[in-house]
Amino acid sequence: MYRTKTCGELRLADAGTTVTLAGWVQRTRKMGGMTFADIRDRYGITQLVFNTEIDADLCERANHLGREYVIQVEGRVNERESKNPNMPTGDIEIIVSRLTVLNASTLPPFTIEDNTDGGDDLRMKYRYLDLRRGAVRRNIELRHKMTMEVRRYLDSKGFLEIETPMLIGSTPEGARDFVVPSRMNPGQFYALPQSPQTLKQLLMVAGMDRYFQIVKCFRDEDLRADRQPEFTQIDCEMSFVTQEDIISTFEGMAKHLFKELRGIELKEDFPRMTWADAMRLYGSDKPDTRFGMEFVELMDVLKGTGEFSVFNEAAYIGGICAKGQAVYTRKQLDQLTEFVKRPQIGAKGLVYARVQEDGSVKSSVDKFYSPEVLGKLKEAMGAEAGDLILILSGADAMKTRKQLCELRLEMGAQMGLRDKNKFSLLWVVDFPMFEWSDEEQRLMATHHPFTHPKDEDIPLLDSDPAAVRADAYDMVCNGVEVGGGSIRIHDPKLQAKMFEILGFTPEKAQQQFGFLMNAFKYGAPPHGGLAYGLDRWVSLFAGLDSIRDCIAFPKNNSGRDVMLDAPSTIDDKQLDELNLTIRKSSEE
Ligand code: ASP
Repeated sequence: MYRTKTCGELRLADAGTTVTLAGWVQRTRKMGGMTFADIRDRYGITQLVFNTEIDADLCERANHLGREYVIQVEGRVNERESKNPNMPTGDIEIIVSRLTVLNASTLPPFTIEDNTDGGDDLRMKYRYLDLRRGAVRRNIELRHKMTMEVRRYLDSKGFLEIETPMLIGSTPEGARDFVVPSRMNPGQFYALPQSPQTLKQLLMVAGMDRYFQIVKCFRDEDLRADRQPEFTQIDCEMSFVTQEDIISTFEGMAKHLFKELRGIELKEDFPRMTWADAMRLYGSDKPDTRFGMEFVELMDVLKGTGEFSVFNEAAYIGGICAKGQAVYTRKQLDQLTEFVKRPQIGAKGLVYARVQEDGSVKSSVDKFYSPEVLGKLKEAMGAEAGDLILILSGADAMKTRKQLCELRLEMGAQMGLRDKNKFSLLWVVDFPMFEWSDEEQRLMATHHPFTHPKDEDIPLLDSDPAAVRADAYDMVCNGVEVGGGSIRIHDPKLQAKMFEILGFTPEKAQQQFGFLMNAFKYGAPPHGGLAYGLDRWVSLFAGLDSIRDCIAFPKNNSGRDVMLDAPSTIDDKQLDELNLTIRKSSEE
């Protein structure tokens, strides 16, 4: 037996027993005639003691143990003189009587402790060492627990876990596909699934009724902050359901996860907000509702009521009221102005107004407005003495709202209102069916082309498609979209119409989606579903800033696996077999 106990389980009650432990040497230190070493495994850390007076040889060997040596020790569990209340095993130590070095280790490139000296790049290059750190390992453990609870919940609701293929054809969902060349079919390519969307719909046609899968999805996007080219979804689909059925099943799952993994009982139904309200009040389809500070539209109050040309020419003027923040100094306000002017945000400037102790308003545009107008501004904003009003305006209402959204989030952060231990969940519903793409110069599906339009909006499909709302819903927690889905179209005629509006010729629709439209001819049940982002859920529960930290082997921001050094070139033989040639650039 390599071990009789793990490094995390010994307690005072074990004192006097003889045990064998195996693990990694975290560190050693010499104090007088004693050598102390910490031995670590997945379960914890235990202190080892080697005493020259008991066994000088053994102690000498312990002095030569390097960091991350793999060792096995036998010894007696002893009550510690100076206990460490910060460690679960802090009441005991092992007086070692036998030491075996199972494997030596090269000095690791960073210290393997919760607070490491290793920078991001180094930690990713040696991720297998990084994973030895408790701080990272705990996220992986939480991830495991979450998938177990997901399975338990969905199984209890009659869902079947069904695998769908990874090598498929293209499933356009708005992103680029990763493609895999086929050796047996020269010149042809598989695509890796962006999601199993069409396959899960086919499973409904197949009568599987309730499907789920914890599945890798692949999207070849330019990596924005906190995206991974491959990520994991809890993908689900149900037959004979309405939007209400899906929302209640998956709200139930969210509640189950909160209870089992965070000990939080969420009793109330999650609030619902229409997409239109979310955009109007928060400038985002995933509002962070841990705090208020909703937008107030100020067109009536500030457009044409003074000499300020910026407002007079604006298509949208909106403000937020930061409670009690009139104390912001000129310097802080300049910094906020710089913040909104950053290219990623793109506002032209920021107007502010402080409500003074006497209730009067002092603003950066005082000279353009009468005290009455400023009084109306205060009233419209619901501001009181001591409050700070921040205002943005612009020629494009949607863009300006998005800028104001960034400002609101920044103020929320500065005011400490975005507490990681507070969870604010909601459903955003009634998404628009289509959005206009400047790049493609056509309407695109907001969710995906299989989403069902709201019944009452179907007549608008021809006359005013931009006004059509969809039976689509997202679950949002703390400003993060943790899941989303829709009721699907099951009528082949409506599906064909949708492709037409999206600019597909009947031939192209047939070529890309013929398999689905064909299947719909054979009795497709009404169905719908949703996918939760597993990485996002784990990060949220673990309080992580990045989903990278809950993925065992993540990619970096350029989509590289720096540990495996992938992607990489392949040799000529492989290229030949695949019937591929690499185009050389002109410099070469
Ligand atoms: N396939 C969708 C997605 O990946 C989710 C769904 O509609 O079920 O976002």
